[in-house]
Amino acid sequence: MRKIAVCLLWILLSFAAWAGAISAVKIGRSKITVEFDTKKGEARKPKVEYDSFTRLLYLEFPDTDLSPNVKAGKNKSKYYDDVQVVDHGNSVGVFVTLAKDVTYTGAMKGKSYVVNLDNGQKQYIIAIDAGHGGKDPGAQSRNKAVDEKNLALAVAKLLRNELAEDFKVIMTRDTDVFIPLSERPAIANRVKCDFFISVHINAAPNRSEASGSEIYYFSTEKPSAYAAKIAAFENSFSEYGGKKDSEIKQIMGSLAYKKNQEKSVNFANPTVEAIARSLRLPNKGIHGANFAVLRGFDGPGVLLELGFITNQTDLKALQNPKNQKAVAKAVAEQVREFFE
Ligand SMILES: [Zn+2]
Repeated sequence: MRKIAVCLLWILLSFAAWAGAISAVKIGRSKITVEFDTKKGEARKPKVEYDSFTRLLYLEFPDTDLSPNVKAGKNKSKYYDDVQVVDHGNSVGVFVTLAKDVTYTGAMKGKSYVVNLDNGQKQYIIAIDAGHGGKDPGAQSRNKAVDEKNLALAVAKLLRNELAEDFKVIMTRDTDVFIPLSERPAIANRVKCDFFISVHINAAPNRSEASGSEIYYFSTEKPSAYAAKIAAFENSFSEYGGKKDSEIKQIMGSLAYKKNQEKSVNFANPTVEAIARSLRLPNKGIHGANFAVLRGFDGPGVLLELGFITNQTDLKALQNPKNQKAVAKAVAEQVREFFE
């Protein structure tokens, strides 16, 4: 009797170990990840069928349970028109209606099955430059407790995460290290980045009421007195960072200069509005000035001044992780629109 019970238990256990259990279906913009809970069963490879007429990709995971927590989140992107997850009882179906001219590849990756979608478009490279770092704290809050370099890095990393699925992303720094101003665009030029985004937090040491978001683009024309002041502040960090401004050669010709400026302005206009809205701060508009960090980049680029570290309202908004994510999301959305 005992032997039979042990036998039955063994059969039950081995059956449980063989059935798959999907714990999550993560629907990204160009990637769908079906995650298995390997404590409950084995990760299973699906049966894959594709109908080119309806552009319907069908994945069937046999002998698989679906966790009731699985919710198919957003279900439209430029890579697909719809994604649905259906529990058939003893199997789970994932239906993906691909957008036009999109191809797919699928493979097991550890305990997940991953479908990558490709629309054949060029993958653009975005450089994200978190301002300051290491021995250069950048601007500081009025009580000196918060450094610009840390806030800039936090938002830069979130922006990288937001963009990673659609773009190749290069960070000039992703830790608390010092990088001279001239080296930052050089890093981006070496890998032929298509766009350069420098992330900063503004400061007005003697004016605590100064508040809001701004974007700067590179301009050799005479800037407004205000823009010149901001540029002088940001550029001042290159003095003790190795090369002096005069040593950084402007590598853009005048035609490229005009074209890049036009593109930068086209990006900056809607983006400053999106940033200000996401942080609930005033929109202080876009300004042209001679920024060392933008000057050396061989393409369009902008310098974001998200808000004022010297203003209590701005500082509170910028320190809130929810807002940091919201502003990263807002900027990423504008980058996608710019390249679409
Ligand atoms: Zn700065």
